[in-house]
Amino acid sequence: MKSELKYHIWTEGCQMNVADSRRVSSALERLGYRGTPRPEEADVIVLNTCVVRQSAENKAVGRLFSLKPLKKRNPGLVINLMGCLVGVKGHDKLRQRFPFVDVFSPPSDPGPLIAHLTQEEVRSLETESTQRRFALMDGDLLLPEAERGKLVSAFIPVVYGCSHACTYCIIPYKRGVERSRPAEEILTEARALVRQGVKEITLLGQIVDRYGKDIPDGPKLWDLLHRLHEEVEGLERIRFLTSHPNWMTDELLDAVAELPRVMPHIEVPIQAGNDEVLKNMRREYTAEDYRRLIGKIRARIPGASIATDIIVGFPGESAAQFQDTYDLLAELELDVAHLARYSPRPGTVSARRMPDDVTEEEKWRRFRLLEELQEGIAAEINARYQGEQVEVLFEDKVKGRWRGRTPTNKLVFVESEADLRGQILPVTITWTGPWSMQGALPLAKPQGGIPVPFHNA
Ligand code: SF4
Repeated sequence: MKSELKYHIWTEGCQMNVADSRRVSSALERLGYRGTPRPEEADVIVLNTCVVRQSAENKAVGRLFSLKPLKKRNPGLVINLMGCLVGVKGHDKLRQRFPFVDVFSPPSDPGPLIAHLTQEEVRSLETESTQRRFALMDGDLLLPEAERGKLVSAFIPVVYGCSHACTYCIIPYKRGVERSRPAEEILTEARALVRQGVKEITLLGQIVDRYGKDIPDGPKLWDLLHRLHEEVEGLERIRFLTSHPNWMTDELLDAVAELPRVMPHIEVPIQAGNDEVLKNMRREYTAEDYRRLIGKIRARIPGASIATDIIVGFPGESAAQFQDTYDLLAELELDVAHLARYSPRPGTVSARRMPDDVTEEEKWRRFRLLEELQEGIAAEINARYQGEQVEVLFEDKVKGRWRGRTPTNKLVFVESEADLRGQILPVTITWTGPWSMQGALPLAKPQGGIPVPFHNA
């Protein structure tokens, strides 16, 4: 019997997948496994996959086939395929296509793997006691050894799945309808994370501002923010993503404006700036609705930073319709725009009914136009921080410089000999660019009258 069993997790895709992989690591480490960055050393390999675009799906399949020789060399190796490539609607076809895979797990569900490793019936894992034993869903999350005491900022899923039906989106097919987690469980998880050194949490949902809508008389997102703010000691910062324009209520904006530890940063996708395209995407709002919402956010939370998502080259999008998106982005001057080229996803309404008639070349042309526009806007917005002092929560060190974020989610780098991990420090901004900034720490109190750099204090 091997002295030490090891696991390796490969994670692709969104923050939700990062949080899900952390949950799998936690359950495996409770079973006594230790993490390894090298798949060839592992006894269990988990591939946590994404299929939001064809390129992501191709990458997952490529990674899966690269494991086949490992399985041949070590038949005892357990391979677990997880995430959106598996989805919630069964995996018979996948089992035929990948016979060397031992366990197929839906997104956010470590249960089937734990059942396989413990020879327990999956069904038994649904019992409260077994969940508690493997700490699968009760919020008492044990961070993976490699992150314990090091992780400063963590994600907490609060709503799984999505009940909207945007015509281009594969998520409802893969992650199922929306299911909000009980508030107590979320609070337990936040406390467990803070106990292990985490200072900031980001609440996750495909439409996070619909939290609690599926629970009769359930708490809403703003209630959850209040409870986390008031009941989790040691939690310094709270963020949430991703919101949908139609569910950003006054109560939610009030909570962000009034609760000092809720960060003034809003992620709310627009996807397109033309009403016809928005209608074909079935986003259920107009460009004018979105413009009004941005005005409301800026009025209620002055200085808030706002990030959006845009898809270019949606079926039927004409040059004039694209121009509407371009003009709206230029007008709104948002802090961040995550851009994507339309990628037809199997099974979605748009893939079934709308020809993908914008050429790849034209999609790239539109993508680059928006990228260039947004780079200019971001550079201008960040330039306003030059010489300003901002509060930065430091997360880790990258290439010898400490990296952290401002309350408005701006990336800041600082040089210091001191260990800044998990500290919130005032930083004076000395350089700004479109994607990040650089700053300096204040000089510490003079020793013997001579001001000394912070780290020698
Ligand atoms: S809101 Fe639309 S784009 Fe977002 S996850 Fe749901 S269906 Fe997909």
